Amino acid sequence: MPSVPDAFLANSDVSSVPNPARSDGWQRELANAIRSVEVLLRRLNLNPHDPQTQSQLQIAGIQLADQDTLQHFPVLVPENFLARMTPGDLHDPLLRQVLPQAAESLSVAGFVPDPVSDLNARRTVGVLQKYAGRVLLIATGACAVHCRYCFRRDYPYAEEPRRLQDWQPALDEIASDHSITEVIFSGGDPFMLNDARLQVLCAALDQIPHVERIRFHTRLPVVLPARVTSELITMLTGLRAQPIVVVHANHANELVSDCADALRKLVRSGIPVLNQAVLLSGVNDNLGALEMLCRRLINLGVMPYYLHQLDRVSGTAHFEVDRALGQQWIQNLAARLPGYAIPRFVQEIPGEPNKTTL
Ligand SMILES: *Cc1c(COP(=O)(O)O)cnc(C)c1O
Ligand code: SF4
Repeated sequence: MPSVPDAFLANSDVSSVPNPARSDGWQRELANAIRSVEVLLRRLNLNPHDPQTQSQLQIAGIQLADQDTLQHFPVLVPENFLARMTPGDLHDPLLRQVLPQAAESLSVAGFVPDPVSDLNARRTVGVLQKYAGRVLLIATGACAVHCRYCFRRDYPYAEEPRRLQDWQPALDEIASDHSITEVIFSGGDPFMLNDARLQVLCAALDQIPHVERIRFHTRLPVVLPARVTSELITMLTGLRAQPIVVVHANHANELVSDCADALRKLVRSGIPVLNQAVLLSGVNDNLGALEMLCRRLINLGVMPYYLHQLDRVSGTAHFEVDRALGQQWIQNLAARLPGYAIPRFVQEIPGEPNKTTL
């Protein structure tokens, strides 16, 4: 059985807060990320106490979230992501993904804490399985950004492994089941783990001969591109198992400057890089936005994989787009772009053997 080396067993709380004095650049950036609505808006030349901003908010139909909502799911926006927003623009598609609105506290029929039935898919501590041949690890509950539409915003992360030795049952379970050919690091965001911790977990999985592929579902290359270090790439390309990175960008404006550089660096290292996006009202709910997103992705060598119909998680109803519109746009996209540029429009329906194509 693969196991976690003793050297990493001490002092190994994987979700500990980064120490700015000691950490890599990306960890410093994370420590300095924006954590309040007030600061977020001020940095965009908007002031929630200023009558002019207040009337702009009203015209845009935005009512800011109350303290309760913020305490439950705080604001978190790295400076690097903020830098890609247009100051003064309440319709900015990046701002809309991270701006907490009062609508998050509305209870809307059909919107529930766990619409994708993650909690019924728990196979062992830290491991979810819904589909044949692949398991998903809840590698950490932490993220570098808080996306207001997040489908795991209510996930009980505190119950999942934190210290490295807590992963032993999951590793044993994977090792004992030869039908598992792919392990997906998810979360939260698995690239929030530092290199040493990621390396230990990957190395342990890499020793299991039937694990053919190790996949990472991560938003860090998009929201905190400094995370894509040469050391990280060396670790990934050094694995016996085939690494696959699935990033998450919803709008072409995310895919510029050092984010574009980081994605290109990953792609050129030979690692397959795919993107999953969510269809979001106010962010990418028009044909032009989806076309630009897909074009920019393929121009960076990143393959559009999935476009998700929003999972109906409590507090996210204001992001939902009529799925008939999504279907129409995907059809229109197919008439405009190469076949490989068209993501599959999918929805996760509990109990189905795969994500359902709409
Ligand atoms: C979405 C998901 C996967 C990945 O599905 P693919 O179609 O292989 O991308 C795997 N496990 C779970 C639990 C998922 O929700
Ligand atoms: S990065 Fe993913 S897991 Fe984290 S808040 Fe955003 S959607 Fe949720």
